[in-house]
Amino acid sequence: MASSATNSTKRKAAPTPVPVQDEGDIMRMTPLGAGQEVGRSCLLLEYKGKTIMLDCGLHPAYSGLSALPFFDDVDPSTIDVLLITHFHVDHAAALPYFMEKTTFKGRVFMTHPTKAIYKWLLSDYVKISNLSAEDQLYDEQDLMRSYEKIEVVDYHQEVDVEGIRFTPYNAGHVLGAAMFLIEIAGVRVLYTGDYSREEDRHLMAAEKPPNVTPEVLICESTYGVQSHEPRVDREARFTRMVHDVVHRGGRCLLPVFALGRAQELLLILDEYWQAHPELHTVPIYYASSLAKKCMTVFQTYTNMMNARIRQQVKISNPFQFKHISNLKSMAHFDDVGPCVMMASPGMLQNGLSRELLELWCVDKRNGVIIPGYVVEGTLGKQILSQPEEIASMNGAKLPLRLTVEYISFSAHVDYRENSAFIEAVGASNLVLVHGDSNEMGRLRSALQSKYAERDVPLHIHTPKNCETVELYFRGEKMAKTIGHLAAHPPTNAAPLTGLLVCRDFMYHLLDPQDLPEFTDLVPASLTQRQTVPCHAPFGIVKWYLENMYGLVDVLGKRSFVVFDTVKVTQAPNLRTYTLEWEGDAVNDMIADSVVAVIVREAGVSMASVKLTKSNCPHQHGHAADEDDEKLVDDESKMDVDKKVVIDSEEQCPSSSATSESDAPAGLRPPSLGYEAAAVHTTKLLTLHFGTEAVTRVSVSDAFEEKERAAAAWTVKVEEHLCDARVIYSLDGSIWKTVVSAPNDEIRRRVQVMVDRAWRTVRPIYETWRLSDTQLKREAQEHIDDDEQSALEKEVDAFVEKGDAKSPS
Ligand SMILES: [Zn+2]
Ligand SMILES: [Zn+2]
Repeated sequence: MASSATNSTKRKAAPTPVPVQDEGDIMRMTPLGAGQEVGRSCLLLEYKGKTIMLDCGLHPAYSGLSALPFFDDVDPSTIDVLLITHFHVDHAAALPYFMEKTTFKGRVFMTHPTKAIYKWLLSDYVKISNLSAEDQLYDEQDLMRSYEKIEVVDYHQEVDVEGIRFTPYNAGHVLGAAMFLIEIAGVRVLYTGDYSREEDRHLMAAEKPPNVTPEVLICESTYGVQSHEPRVDREARFTRMVHDVVHRGGRCLLPVFALGRAQELLLILDEYWQAHPELHTVPIYYASSLAKKCMTVFQTYTNMMNARIRQQVKISNPFQFKHISNLKSMAHFDDVGPCVMMASPGMLQNGLSRELLELWCVDKRNGVIIPGYVVEGTLGKQILSQPEEIASMNGAKLPLRLTVEYISFSAHVDYRENSAFIEAVGASNLVLVHGDSNEMGRLRSALQSKYAERDVPLHIHTPKNCETVELYFRGEKMAKTIGHLAAHPPTNAAPLTGLLVCRDFMYHLLDPQDLPEFTDLVPASLTQRQTVPCHAPFGIVKWYLENMYGLVDVLGKRSFVVFDTVKVTQAPNLRTYTLEWEGDAVNDMIADSVVAVIVREAGVSMASVKLTKSNCPHQHGHAADEDDEKLVDDESKMDVDKKVVIDSEEQCPSSSATSESDAPAGLRPPSLGYEAAAVHTTKLLTLHFGTEAVTRVSVSDAFEEKERAAAAWTVKVEEHLCDARVIYSLDGSIWKTVVSAPNDEIRRRVQVMVDRAWRTVRPIYETWRLSDTQLKREAQEHIDDDEQSALEKEVDAFVEKGDAKSPS
């Protein structure tokens, strides 16, 4: 990728390349055709996950598949939008193939006149290209099917296709030709297509999109550094040439592309004939049924032409010529003397213009005037060097005696116009296409020296076909605050919270209540509900949760709210508890721990109570026992380690529970223990090190002199077994993790994780942690007499129920 910057390296240090942080910030442009050539224009533009194809033309010098752009290099199904600048074969003729014979399913846009002419033009192309069936890329049906799917746009009409915004602007060149200003994520690209900056007899000059400085300009380079002669001189020279040929009794052949320049030349000739009565005996023909069909399009879209035509239309339609007649076919042509014949195709590849050239080339009174750009490899280009003979379509050699002249009526910019436009647009990246490598190279050099002199950066790229130009743009990474959040400017150190909404690459920070107003989203809250099988009496469940989370808000006889978050309700059948909470990350976590407490602490301790109370041996078919099994089943479904259950049971106040008489007192757990925290820490450790690697090991109840272990694990890291334990001071006020490992590195890794896990799950227990004495006192205070007796009754009822069912 050359750039003008290389010219000024002596004065300036080379810029430090910006490290690319995000692949999505790279814009890629790849010509699949028209890369250092003229013909088969087709360019792929990729940015931020969007893909756009610009033009889809055929190469006039080739036939069959070889005329196509390099479609192999692209996955057609990934293309979002395809924009066609104008109807010329080298910009539009591969479209039916691409739309009907590939996996392409994007949207196609072009202007109204382009679409109107596209149909006639390509139908003509299918007929005259007289290709063998295998070389035929598509047929009439393909063409019509593609035609129906094409969408139309007007000049200056902005279209947005899922974040790709584009606007067509008048490009001059031919009727309906557009340049496209494309914007993706705030980066703008202007693609000129073929354009002309000179107003001619019927078209306006191309306009520069106002008030924008695109980041990238993709520009044609057909004429390189050449300059056009002034229009008046050129027209005078042209009419003189034509006049000379017919004056000497010759036939004047004007090979033209049926549409576009042909209409311009017809306007010039009609006016010249009008002014020269002596020529009225010499007929002018345009031999193209296509041009005749399309003339209605020209008559329709005079509103898209220049002021001069729009004025004339008010008097009479300038496209209804006085001195020119349409020739339906050669059968209607009486070749008896001097005449002017305009016939297509413009580069003499085949068809009528070729037939007439072969017929007339032997007579030196005749003349052919090539009035526009001819592509390398065509007969039109060959005869410009005045060869002695030419090859006819059937392979015979024919002497070339007629005069050959060239005059550029191509509506493409020359160097002066092109460089002025490039400067006016002011993009700092220029990609040149649609020019053969020589012309393109000359244009690049000329522009490089022009910009180096002025020390203005212009990065010029001239990619070959399938060569990708990569440009890096730091995408917009800014979020605008809108709605209520924007009402008060943020102050230092005051955090701003809101929802970050991304739409079409724009970020907005807003209050959830503003969602419906500024977006098409609506805020919704999700109520989570979970039912847990648990036979433990209401009072016990409440009591456990109270110990764990602090006071709960009692809502009714069988319902309370934990931590202002989770509503716990006992079912009327006393067999299940239902939890309800508004789902979000934090609330879900609290709800999880509430479930754990209900199932594990309350449920298991009650199981112990019941079993000891009933004195009933485990038996199959035992109703209460079934319930018991169900409880265990549900627990295993919830992925609870059975060992944990046993641990809980061990911690449960079985000593008190065994005694029927003091059941209520015994229902008070002696301490909260560290069990739940240990269980959650184990889960977190397995998430990090893997299920296989972490084993919970029991800790001895033995109190050491100054501290006791709360939980312990073995953790396997890279085949090394480590011991990890959480140790508390005797008064429970400080804790630490102790890890033994083969080396410091592994020890550190394990310690960090255990530390972090314990610190994450512990606080909730720490917060409500009470000493044994405190615990007893508070339990007494909380369970007032009424409650206590209710609790007693509840437990009794529960236990009796188990009894009644058991066939003891
Ligand atoms: Zn063109
Ligand atoms: Zn072109």
